Amino acid sequence: MNIVETFVQEPEYWITSLDGVKEYLEKHVKKGTVSVAGNSAGGREILVYAYGEKENLPQTVSFSSAFAARKPELYTRAPERKKLSLFIYGAIHGAEVEGTAGLLNLINLLEHGTDLRGRKNDALLKLAEQYRIVIVPLSQPDGRARFRRNSMVGQSLDVFQYYAHGVWNDGTPCKYPYHKEVMPLPVNEFEQLGAYFNDNGVNCQHDDFFGNIQPETQTLIRLVHEERPDCILSCHSCEADPGMSTPAATLTDNGLRMVQQIAASVMANQIKANLRPYHRVNLQQGRAFILQDILYMASGGLPLLYEFPHGCVNIPFSHDEIIDLGLILFEEIMKFGVETGFKNRF
Ligand SMILES: [Zn+2]
Repeated sequence: MNIVETFVQEPEYWITSLDGVKEYLEKHVKKGTVSVAGNSAGGREILVYAYGEKENLPQTVSFSSAFAARKPELYTRAPERKKLSLFIYGAIHGAEVEGTAGLLNLINLLEHGTDLRGRKNDALLKLAEQYRIVIVPLSQPDGRARFRRNSMVGQSLDVFQYYAHGVWNDGTPCKYPYHKEVMPLPVNEFEQLGAYFNDNGVNCQHDDFFGNIQPETQTLIRLVHEERPDCILSCHSCEADPGMSTPAATLTDNGLRMVQQIAASVMANQIKANLRPYHRVNLQQGRAFILQDILYMASGGLPLLYEFPHGCVNIPFSHDEIIDLGLILFEEIMKFGVETGFKNRF
């Protein structure tokens, strides 16, 4: 399949490549820590950044058991912890790097007091100081390696299709959502395997969670199980408008209300900043059962899924605007947490 990529110069504050993220973290992180949390199916490192002290409280009960006893706090240990805890991961679908770009700007703010554009954001910084924050900027590096660009800004939907979802050997596009009908995908039958999938041909969002689980999925489960965060944010991107996506199917009614409240305040502030989010806030619980549900059940963390815009030609967004969307998203989630403690989410 012939695709025509448009030349777009990415700004220096846009760091999304495997090498770029690694180099940035190795050079610029002093306050937080960086470590290798695991490896992908293709043997690539999954890096994790952590900010704020880890509170090692004992684990004396499973989440399921504490939940059934109507005392989830016995598992989360929230009343004993000094700080709130937030877990964020990006690019489980390898071409969805817009959240990664926002996260690197957040990390720079935490480390150096300004984002990568040199802008201060004392309100966000002050909120962040009340948290332990754990970030996996590129959670599915195999797909990221196959996406040979650093951004989709200014590209056609053909370029998006080619890299995100892929093209079969006979030149026909591998279409969403039909590629969900077989898993793993036969990786040798692709001219270009979509960045959605790891090197085993699996979309980790719909992994075989209780069978042949993929190393990327396993790494995320282990991290949230250890951290027991109050909230988990998964950063995705799509070719449409930005906005909070369908809440996890396994949430309680209270959890669902919380997601809707956070979505409403994120949207209100993005509208204020002229950032064109979805014009809807009444998010209803979906029937899809996804990685978010598994991470929620592994940790008790309120699961959020945000869709950044890719900024393709059909729905244009600049790199600068995409970073702003991310920083508003992170700030509103942290503000909500400081105001409510994410209490009563069960
Ligand atoms: Zn996605």
